[in-house]
Amino acid sequence: MGKYRPRKERKHGRGVQVCRRCGSRDAVIQKYNLYFCRQCFREVARSLGFRIYS
Ligand SMILES: [Zn+2]
Repeated sequence: MGKYRPRKERKHGRGVQVCRRCGSRDAVIQKYNLYFCRQCFREVARSLGFRIYS
């Protein structure tokens, strides 16, 4: 079928953070209490003045 992920109602706790920008659960960065996934973090961090070298 499609690539749609079945949403499992898991307990929201450690390690179950969701990117508050795009909703992705992949590699959500919790630094600085931002809670963004890697991609969003890079974009947001730029606007926030963070310097990111990757
Ligand atoms: Zn994101």
